[in-house]
Amino acid sequence: MGTIMIVEDEDPISRVLAAYIRKAGFDCAIFKDGLQAMESFDTVQPELVLLDVMLPGMDGWEVLNGIRRKSPCPVIMLTARGEVTDRIHGLNEGADDYMTKPFEPEEVVARIHAVLRRPPRSLVSSEQVVIGSLRIDFKSRSVYLNGASLSITPRDLSLLLFLAEHPNQIFYREQLIEKVWGIDYDGSDRAVDLAIKRLRKALLHWPAEEGELRTMRGTGYQLYANGLK
Ligand code: CA
Repeated sequence: MGTIMIVEDEDPISRVLAAYIRKAGFDCAIFKDGLQAMESFDTVQPELVLLDVMLPGMDGWEVLNGIRRKSPCPVIMLTARGEVTDRIHGLNEGADDYMTKPFEPEEVVARIHAVLRRPPRSLVSSEQVVIGSLRIDFKSRSVYLNGASLSITPRDLSLLLFLAEHPNQIFYREQLIEKVWGIDYDGSDRAVDLAIKRLRKALLHWPAEEGELRTMRGTGYQLYANGLK
């Protein structure tokens, strides 16, 4: 099992949480302030984050925003009692759940398991798009399914990257040829259909309920992403 990141400035709370979480088989990485947690996020690669709202310096909401700019990693917010508006705020901001202090550590572990059982969250940023188990990294021009790199030819990859930059938008063949391969392209429209066919094959094991390459009426194509606006 992966690592749970605990961001909590109150030592007694993080110590007890860590003990129960380790007992459940996870590793723990504890941080006392938000800035340190953010700086270590890429190194730790947490499977889930337990995030206190009231932190010195950078508060929990700022940390959550920072995480959401780059990762769909599940986040459970830890809030003080009675902060009901925090719940609405948190779920709007991209938190996956919240827990009100004081809580039973067993309950926190149960929530961790419950959140990890949910389908992965989708994310679109300038660096990457994550649609369920599919992750497309624009910088390195890489495509991963469940963490495993997919082998796609550069030409087909350009098409997939373009569609991934605009999930759920429909593009017609002529548009795709012009925008992806350039206006000087002298092949036929069929080239797009064939590239889509090869991409579908590469994405064969991507669950259709998460998303898919769709053919739309009038021969348009779309990278459909479930749950993305
Ligand atoms: Ca606190």
